[in-house]
Amino acid sequence: MSAPGDNPSLQGGCTCRYVRYRLVSQPLFVHCCHCYWCQRETGSAFVLNALIEADRVQMLEGAVAGVDIPTQSGKGQKVSRCPKCAIAVWSNYSGAGDVMRFVRVGTLDEPWRLPPNIHIFTASKQPWVTLPADVPAVAEYYRASELWPAESLERRAALMAKSPRQR
Ligand SMILES: [Zn+2]
Ligand SMILES: [Zn+2]
Repeated sequence: MSAPGDNPSLQGGCTCRYVRYRLVSQPLFVHCCHCYWCQRETGSAFVLNALIEADRVQMLEGAVAGVDIPTQSGKGQKVSRCPKCAIAVWSNYSGAGDVMRFVRVGTLDEPWRLPPNIHIFTASKQPWVTLPADVPAVAEYYRASELWPAESLERRAALMAKSPRQR
């Protein structure tokens, strides 16, 4: 993973271009989630989420509107959408508050810059999806402490110190 501050144009936004944002550093980790909830919410086979501290997502233009939706865990999720075209640009899970965002990688101008670091919930992946051999894949979820790079774990610890609810 790249060093902090190394930020090759991680800008993105919605389809109508009312919402524009920038990730001010590389994310902590990138999930490719194959669960049925993500499949339904995207209408696709999986979602790509870049996990990053909320204060590293800089609004360049516009504003988002939050929509609360249920989740499998029962804790709920707030999806941030463009108020005009309703494209979802990121979400956060209610248990953690808005300290960590799950940015939809497909909303980046150059989404190929953030390939997945792990495939999760592969137990429900569509049968035609073939996973690469060199990226970790788990049937359900995993422990960040076992797979995240040290720098991301340090950033996560700093985040937890600021927000005890994150635990
Ligand atoms: Zn829009
Ligand atoms: Zn999912």
